[in-house]
Amino acid sequence: MQNTLETGVSSVRESIESALRDSIVSRSDSELDLSGKIKACRALKLIRAGQWRKAANYALAGLSRRLGQERVFHMPFALGLDPTNACQLSCPFCISSKPHGSDYLPFETYEAIIKRLGPWLIKVDFCTGAEPLLHPRICEMIALAKRYGIETAIASNINHVPDPAALVSSGLDLLMMSVDGISPETYGRYRAGGDFEKVMANMRALAAARRRLGRNRPSLVWNYLVFSYNEHEIPEVVRLAREIGVDFVTFMAPYIPQERRAELQSSIPRFLSPGSSQPSDYCLWPWSGLLIYPTNRVCLCYEDSLALSAADRLAEDFDGVWNGEYLRGARRALAARGAGSGTVEGHNCGVCRRKGEINFCI
Ligand code: SF4
Repeated sequence: MQNTLETGVSSVRESIESALRDSIVSRSDSELDLSGKIKACRALKLIRAGQWRKAANYALAGLSRRLGQERVFHMPFALGLDPTNACQLSCPFCISSKPHGSDYLPFETYEAIIKRLGPWLIKVDFCTGAEPLLHPRICEMIALAKRYGIETAIASNINHVPDPAALVSSGLDLLMMSVDGISPETYGRYRAGGDFEKVMANMRALAAARRRLGRNRPSLVWNYLVFSYNEHEIPEVVRLAREIGVDFVTFMAPYIPQERRAELQSSIPRFLSPGSSQPSDYCLWPWSGLLIYPTNRVCLCYEDSLALSAADRLAEDFDGVWNGEYLRGARRALAARGAGSGTVEGHNCGVCRRKGEINFCI
């Protein structure tokens, strides 16, 4: 009896490992190139695309980071932007604030920022928290960024997809779809308030719209958080992703609070919930860009909530913000940490454990 049980467990584990080696899973790192550091190959891609100004700005940002400069001479090359803080779901360990809000970034505010910064921007990430597809003008926002040659990415729970064809036609480059189950039971355990049938229908509709329109963008990425109760679904997720026409599947370790880990943590070592880590010396944010919130705030990064400016004044205030005392202090703090000299007061940078990198798919 014991032997039969062990054989069964090991065969399930082998089928999971085999699914994790599938190309739709293991291709994602190399082809999506989601590593964040400044790389020469990205500057070359920009040059090949005729985007000389962006390439030069990006290279200058890299040099500035390397030198640990406080006052910089380049412009931001990335923006994190929350179109809204509204969300239909109540995922238990959500990183954004709860309860969710009902603020929407006015299109005019967004337009003024893109007009000011667009000529230098490489990427706008519409996925810092909440549910970006709830913004009624999200497709126009993406299309405006694309007119400036900016790469765009969205992370969504895809419970609401305004119009799959319009979203594909907007020019969106990357859509990360957060779906952690292939049955209403497993899906609903984490995505509280979500509608499993609707989510799967939306995933199929997006893949179909892309085929119908003859496009290869957006890259469709199925993000799947692995818990104890859904790890057995991994082989079926891979099979389903292929059937639907998704490009990549990324299986990820979720954040789980210490007191729930015994119950919820996966038994597969690579999906153990991230523990506390050392503060990171490498961070790109103060040299790369800013975060815009729908509450009319501009902040340094995901980990630092001090408002540096009102979003609707950023286009006018920009020089004062970008080389203002606060950002210069953050750059100073990180440069000092890189040299091993500890923390500097006044910024989360002194204690921050995030790497603060920017992800790309260019
Ligand atoms: S070190 Fe942390 S707090 Fe400082 S800029 Fe980077 S992500 Fe933000």
